[in-house]
This record gives sequence, C-alpha cells and structure tokens, in this order.
Amino acid sequence: MERAENRTYRRKIAALQQTAVVTRMMEEKMKDKARHRFTATDVQLSCRGCFTPVAHGNDIRVIENSHHVIVNPDFKMYFRTGGQVPLERHFEDWEPGRKIICAKCRKDWGMEIKFKRVVVLPCINVKSFSIKTPQDTRSPKKWKDVPFPVEEFDFLKYVDSVGLGLDLD
Ligand SMILES: [Zn+2]
Repeated sequence: MERAENRTYRRKIAALQQTAVVTRMMEEKMKDKARHRFTATDVQLSCRGCFTPVAHGNDIRVIENSHHVIVNPDFKMYFRTGGQVPLERHFEDWEPGRKIICAKCRKDWGMEIKFKRVVVLPCINVKSFSIKTPQDTRSPKKWKDVPFPVEEFDFLKYVDSVGLGLDLD
C-alpha cells in the first residue's frame, strides 16, 4: 500500500517537473519570437532627447550579452565625449572610457568602452533612444525588450572591417 502511494507521489512530481520544463521552453520561444519581430535593418534608433535618427538596428553588436556597442564608424558624428567614467572594478576584456552624449541636445547616451585595451567603441544605453520599427515607435527600458535580434560582437571581424587587421608583411 505504501508503495502505491509512493508511486502516485513520484508520478505527480514528474508531471510537475515536466510542466515546468515545457512552460520554460514555451516562454523562451515566445521571447525569441518577440526578438525576431523585425529585421535589424528595418529598425531605426533616434535620440530620445531631440529625436534625431542616429543608427539602425544592424549597427549594434552585443558584448558578453550585456554591452551594446555601435560598430558603424559613421555613428561618431552624432555624439560628443564627456568626462572619464570612473573604473569601479576590473573586467577581463574591457574597461570604461569617456561618457558619450548627443551632439545635438547633449542627452546622456552611455559611454565608450575599451575592448581588449585596443578598440574603443561607443556603448549605448537603450533608455536614451526611441526605436522606430516599420509598425510603431517604442521606448524600451531594457535591451532584452527590443523587437529585433542583435548580433554578437565579433572582435576579429570588427578589426578586419575597420581596416585594423594584421598585416604581417
Ligand atoms: Zn539628442
């Protein structure tokens, strides 16, 4: 009799665990679908202070799943740099550079990051930009809520694309 009870109990636990796994998978799928609603090239970023369009979704790359940098060199005409951002702790691959602000309205946009001590890239805060898709304009608070996929930063590809690749001759 005790054995039968144990079996029922085990079955219940297994069902609960399975439900949890399936729920998590469905949530991930929905999030993924939301992230792929628009292609990155169809999305435009404008300064949330002065509404100047400054970049497209495909100009953005993500480093270590958290830092969103702009790899399009033309972006530099839209911002100015401010004071050095204090270094609060050490990171293996990057360190903060100067603050970056909108060239037109001086809105705080984020900061430069020095990646692997050799490449300096503007790292932007999503809260400083509005995002125009083919359907609407949004103001996401977090990068994970943007409705387009962001490619991962590829250091070697970037170095090559800006003509800093190794020329060993
Ligand atoms: Zn602005």
